[in-house]
Amino acid sequence: MLRSLLLLTLFPLAVFAQTQDKVREYRRANERQILKEFTTLLAIPNVASDTQNIRRNAALIVEMMKQRGLNPRLLEAPTPNTPPAVYGEWKTPGAQRTILVYAHYDGQPTDPKQWTGTAPWEPVFRTGAIEEGGHVAVVADTGAINPRWRIYARSASDDKAGVMAILTAFTALKDKGVALTSNVKFFFEGEEEAGSPHLGEIIDRNKELLTADAWIIGDGPVHQSGRKQVVFGARGDTNVDVTVYAAKRPLHSGHYGNWSPNPAQMLARLLASMKDDDGRVTIEGWYADTEALGDVERRAIAEAPQYDEELKGQLGIKRTEGGGKSLLELINQPSLNINGFASGDVGALARNVIPTTATAVLDLRLVKGNDLQRQVQRLVEHIRKQGYQVFDRDPTDAERAQYPLLARVNVRPGGYNAERTRMDLPISKSVIEAVQSTSQEKIVLLPTSGGSLPLSIISGRLKTVTISVPIANYDNNQHAENENLRLQNFWDGIEIWAAIMTMKN
Ligand SMILES: [Zn+2]
Repeated sequence: MLRSLLLLTLFPLAVFAQTQDKVREYRRANERQILKEFTTLLAIPNVASDTQNIRRNAALIVEMMKQRGLNPRLLEAPTPNTPPAVYGEWKTPGAQRTILVYAHYDGQPTDPKQWTGTAPWEPVFRTGAIEEGGHVAVVADTGAINPRWRIYARSASDDKAGVMAILTAFTALKDKGVALTSNVKFFFEGEEEAGSPHLGEIIDRNKELLTADAWIIGDGPVHQSGRKQVVFGARGDTNVDVTVYAAKRPLHSGHYGNWSPNPAQMLARLLASMKDDDGRVTIEGWYADTEALGDVERRAIAEAPQYDEELKGQLGIKRTEGGGKSLLELINQPSLNINGFASGDVGALARNVIPTTATAVLDLRLVKGNDLQRQVQRLVEHIRKQGYQVFDRDPTDAERAQYPLLARVNVRPGGYNAERTRMDLPISKSVIEAVQSTSQEKIVLLPTSGGSLPLSIISGRLKTVTISVPIANYDNNQHAENENLRLQNFWDGIEIWAAIMTMKN
């Protein structure tokens, strides 16, 4: 496979290989300095709501970018006391293309007490993963640093790794005199983990500045198999609360059972009506506007590592849904998940009662082609078809007297649509080739990740495409305690970003 690829594109790969050697040479000669800059950034607490510290992060990144000649500035949202984005740019003479490279410098909130032996914002090196007995160690003044060592700190992987890999790649290229092939805009967001509530406003205020042929997103882990990957989309997401109503007060189940309806039973039946035994959603039109995958996308899924059996073993499940389709195929379809279901009490508080209401929280994942409002509307229509009168508030006494079946449906704020970039666009091909050039193994190409990112905030406003290039180890504990980054993943990440900044037009 590699050989045929070589024959087809000998020249660019040779150029890539040279660049990669130079970047590696730079990194090897400067590992301690690179890690010092990284740990200095990791030592600043970075929860988006921590207004003071988040600005200290932004100020340090501005400083780092100034040293690199990237003309940094803060992009403020109109809403006061929100984290700024940090912007910088590099103009390449004669470049036909402009890419914007994205990472975020904020991290998830965390409870320091949950961390093993160290604190979230006091970065330490360990000789390996804690789970494998890795212990705290200090980098010696000289000699090679073991690439299996890890840095433990909040955002070591998610996503200060992205910020540092991007900036270090740029430094390496500049130091080695390798010319970039694109104009590169740098954009580091400060509240991604808070759901990017002001990203849209920041883009609206700086449309010209943030316009690019593509936004290349540096965030997330590589494939579970350890292979590098490029991800071309993310699912959309919205949450909906559904409540059904029975008698106004809790009733004795002996005196009133068989006569007064039970809301848990009603909601269970309503939810059961939404899916068949194989997990396929039976709500009318649910899959109607799903945009079909192209040949390239289908082939990419077929060629991705087969990981389902391994996962089933790890998770303790014998049966899967979806009629035998693989996980990677199924995340390309919209979903309907029950996040939670509550009615009455269980455990010590359980008693013989007919509860007054039952509530479920539903999670609707969306794929390319789906529209948030349309999908919710289909859900509401389905509930109506089951005989329910649907409200967006509690029913009044008059309404209780009028309708036999009452439901309340509320869409939670913050939902957004899916985004997917075609894998056969010229820019997509260039990114694939660049990332592949840094890897001996065939890289994994995913049409979409199963999870959600508000990529549509970007593409909807800027008429651009987004492509994600993750670098962190998959076992990085992102969002949890003991977050970490394997050094080899960081080194690989620097080479990946250097390849992207020098990819052919
Ligand atoms: Zn992230």
